[in-house]
Amino acid sequence: MEPSLMANQLTEVTIHTNQIPSSQILPPHTLPANHYKLQQLPTSYSILQNSSPSTRDPVNSTILLYPASDSNLSLPELLNETIPSNDINPVNIKSIRGNGLAVTLHTENEVDKLKLIIEENVTLKSAITSKIPSKRNPSIILYNLPSFLNEDEIPQALKFQHNLDFPLNPSFNFRGSSSNLRNWVFEAPAQILNSIKQTNKILIGWGMYRLSEFFHIKRCNFCQAFGHTTKECTLQVPSCGTCAGHHLTSNCQSSLKYCVNCYESNLYTGTDHQNYHSAKDRSCPFFQAAIQHYRTTRDYI
Ligand SMILES: [Zn+2]
Ligand SMILES: [Zn+2]
Ligand SMILES: [Zn+2]
Repeated sequence: MEPSLMANQLTEVTIHTNQIPSSQILPPHTLPANHYKLQQLPTSYSILQNSSPSTRDPVNSTILLYPASDSNLSLPELLNETIPSNDINPVNIKSIRGNGLAVTLHTENEVDKLKLIIEENVTLKSAITSKIPSKRNPSIILYNLPSFLNEDEIPQALKFQHNLDFPLNPSFNFRGSSSNLRNWVFEAPAQILNSIKQTNKILIGWGMYRLSEFFHIKRCNFCQAFGHTTKECTLQVPSCGTCAGHHLTSNCQSSLKYCVNCYESNLYTGTDHQNYHSAKDRSCPFFQAAIQHYRTTRDYI
C-alpha cells in the first residue's frame, strides 16, 4: 500500500492570523466552484456530520462468518438459500481464511440485524459461526531513514531500545524528504506506541531518527477533501491546498493561506471556521475530524 497522503508527512506549520488585510482576502469568484460538487461525495463535511458512507467504520460494520467446524458447505450457497442479499444489502463481501466471508454492512445496527437473523434461523445457527473482527493496532512512523540501512536493523533497533518482547513487523515504507530517504511505518499495540512516543527518536547505527504516531488518513491532493485519494478524485478542476484557488498546490504562488474545506463548510453549512490556514494544517477542524475518525478504527486500549 502506498497511501497518497499520510498525516505525518505534513511538517508544515501555519501561523494563524485574523489580521489579513481585506485586500488580500480572496473574492468568492476566485474560489473553486467545482469543489461545491463535493457535497454529494464523501467530503470532509460528511466526516464532521457523520452522515456519509465515508464515515462508515469498516471495522465496526464488518462481521466475519465462518462455516461451523464440522461443516463442509459453502457459505455463499447457504446464505443464498436462506437470506436474500437485498434484505441485508452488503457494502462489500470478501472471502477470508477458513472458508469464511467478511461481510461489510452500512452500519453497526445492520451487523446486529444480520447476527440476529443467523441466530434465529435453526439451519444458519448450526452451520455458521460469526465473529466481530478486532480493531487493528495504531501505527508509528520513523522518518527519513537512509536507504543503505539493512531492513532488519530497523525493527531490531526498535525492539532493543524499547525493550519489546518481539520485533514489530513493518507495514510499509515510502519516500522521505529526498529520494534516498524512506519513511517506515509499523503497527504497534497501544502500550508500545505510548512508550515509543515518550522519546520520539531512535538511534539506528550512527544515526538518530525522529518517530511519531502515524495516522492513516486519506486527503485528496487534487480537491483537498478528506476521505478519498487523488487517484479516486472525480473532479476535473483542482483546488489549491494552500490558497483554495483553481490550480494545483504545487503551482501555487499565493502567500495567503486559505482553507477550501473550511470555506465551503462556512458557505454551505453555516459553520464559522477560521479560514486562514492551508488545507494541510493539522489544526483545521476537518483534519482534526479525520484524525478523530481514524482513531475510532484502531485499538487504543
Ligand atoms: Zn478529490
Ligand atoms: Zn494556491
Ligand atoms: Zn480548514
